[in-house]
Order: sequence, then C-alpha cells, then structure tokens
Amino acid sequence: MKFILTKELGRLVRWLRILGFDTAYHDSDNIGTLIIQALRENRIIATRRKAKVDDLEKKTIVIHSDKIQDQLQEIKAKLNLAIDESKMFSRCTVCNEALKEVKKEEVKTEVPPYVYEHHDEFMRCRRCRKVYWRGTHWGNVNKALKRLGIT
Ligand SMILES: [Zn+2]
Repeated sequence: MKFILTKELGRLVRWLRILGFDTAYHDSDNIGTLIIQALRENRIIATRRKAKVDDLEKKTIVIHSDKIQDQLQEIKAKLNLAIDESKMFSRCTVCNEALKEVKKEEVKTEVPPYVYEHHDEFMRCRRCRKVYWRGTHWGNVNKALKRLGIT
C-alpha cells in the first residue's frame, strides 16, 4: 500500500516511512498535481480536507485526529493496515527512498566516534546519503509504537 499525504500531515508522513510504507508528501495546494501523482503512482491519498478530493473518494481517506499518535491509529484502523515489522526502518524518513546496507568502514567519517564504536549495522539513503543505524532512538521509536498498539 502506497500513500500520498497532503501538507497538513507532515508528521504522519515521517511515521509512515518509519513503518516502511512508501509515502509521498504533497507540499502544495495544487489539487491537480496531487491527484495526478496519486493516480500515476497508485497511491492512496490521505488528507485532512475532504472537499479537496471529493471525486476520488474511494482512493482517499480523511484523517480527523490532531495528534500524531491518534492519526497513526486512525489510518491503521481505516485501511486495516498490516504492519510488517521486517520492513520497519527500511526507508529514509526525509526523502522516502529505500535504504541500503553499507559496510561499517564506509561510514567511519560520517558518524560520531561513539556510534561507530558501538554499532555494526549501518544503512544509507540512496538519494540524500543520510546514514542510519540501530541506535537508542530506534529502540525508543519501537517501544512507542508497541505502546500505542501500532505494531
Ligand atoms: Zn534520504
């Protein structure tokens, strides 16, 4: 399942990417380009403003909650979303690109020495080159998702 979210849902974009979903962010008021991209890339539109996309009702969900944790639960319930834990943390939260594993030595100059010393698995975004590793933040995110009943 792939998504495109309108600009009021920026935080939800990042969380869906963390969960491993291919999620585009439509940061513009141009409904035409939103609909074209959704159709062309076969994405479900999630928005807060129903009137925007009335004619695409079946491919659109309206998110009513304000808080990010409620929004996550809402989208999960509405679409009966299956979360695949093996796909989590496999996508760049900044640009939506799939991450690829990189050798530890390759990132030596790009991560803090402490991180380099204590971690062995690193991944890199193919587009923005950002380096990711399974650190404390990762564990905290996982715990938060479990607590919310998302995973
Ligand atoms: Zn990236």
